Amino acid sequence: MGVSEFARGISESPTMALNEQARVLREQGESVVHLGIGEPQNAAPQSAIDTAAAALAGGKIKYTPTTGVPSFKKAVVKYTEDNYGRTVSPKNVIVCAGAKQAIFNALWAILDPGDEVILLAPYWVSYPEMVKMCRAVPVVVTPAAGSLMPSFDQIAAAVTPRTRAIIVNSPNNPSGMVFPRDLVGELVTLCESRGIHAIMDDIYHKLVFDGVKAPSCYEFSTRETNASSLVVVNGIAKTYGMTGFRIGWAIASQDIIAAMSTLQSQTTSCTSSLCQLAAQGAMLGPQDEVEQLRASMQHNRDVILAELAKVPGVTVAKPSGTFYCLPDFSAHLGRGIAKDSFELAMFLLSKARVVTIPGRDFGLEGYLRLSYAGSAADAVEGVNRIRWALDPSTPTSIAIGGKTVVRDWL
Ligand code: PMP
Repeated sequence: MGVSEFARGISESPTMALNEQARVLREQGESVVHLGIGEPQNAAPQSAIDTAAAALAGGKIKYTPTTGVPSFKKAVVKYTEDNYGRTVSPKNVIVCAGAKQAIFNALWAILDPGDEVILLAPYWVSYPEMVKMCRAVPVVVTPAAGSLMPSFDQIAAAVTPRTRAIIVNSPNNPSGMVFPRDLVGELVTLCESRGIHAIMDDIYHKLVFDGVKAPSCYEFSTRETNASSLVVVNGIAKTYGMTGFRIGWAIASQDIIAAMSTLQSQTTSCTSSLCQLAAQGAMLGPQDEVEQLRASMQHNRDVILAELAKVPGVTVAKPSGTFYCLPDFSAHLGRGIAKDSFELAMFLLSKARVVTIPGRDFGLEGYLRLSYAGSAADAVEGVNRIRWALDPSTPTSIAIGGKTVVRDWL
């Protein structure tokens, strides 16, 4: 009642909904293994805590300029230079409440009703809803069956006169894939030559494995920042595990940043000064915790892949980054237990008390996203329970949280 038709047309973040269900089960004393987690479990770096604590002790926590605290914007400029080899001006930077708001503000600044945005499945769950919130149209490009990598030819074929942006997320949530250099180069060339905005969601760019480096879009850009249609989004949530501080940013032409700033000035005004200073502390402080986090995620990836290899009928492409993998469960669908990935995720939660996220929500049916951002022990326990639920050759009973559970569905 009283809720607009528009608001009713936007879906809640499915990851949030599943998290909530898992929280309720845990509150009821159930032993839930959470492979849906979207954040590392580390404490914030000491340098972040120290900078924020000093500011808090001073007591003056005030509004900041809409685009961010100047000293923090300087840290973002330095980060861009150090990590992308690109020199930008503070006028090319806007600080937002997380990468999520940076992406939304960019779309809002770019899109008119009816415009199209190309999304590459599997895509992050929020992109289609954000596009719809701008009254624009998501156009999904799906990879060839069995592949998790988009094809450039298919992307190019999806471009129409109404295409205003392509959102590129590499390393990719949910697949963990890092896009090859050629593909990033082709996308940048296409976008810059056609005036289409390439929104590069680089939030996982430092969480990469086996010596792989995520190719930077700037390597292929032939334009100066103010003449380029590239929008590069980043943040502290994943690299430093500082999800709750809600700090992200976008780098783009001054025109786009100015439009994003106008919109932000009429909504949130600015991001919390305290959190910007915490982010500044993290980015200018020692960086060894970034490497520790990266190495622990790589270890967890190896652990979860080894466990998944034991589950019959499940195949998985080896992630080169993030803390997710996207195994193909299609061999277990369409039969008795679940007709699609949503039903399978619900089945695994209710029978095995394991949280997974259905591939359907990422635009790719047949898959489940598993996170290994928790402990390696959770990855082992979670996949072991999944195997028990799906593999008739395992013993029929299993201990879950001290209770013996008997499988009676295979
Ligand atoms: N992009 C992707 C692909 C993500 O996975 C996330 C977080 N789950 C975000 C953006 C949002 O990051 P932030 O917490 O900085 O808003």
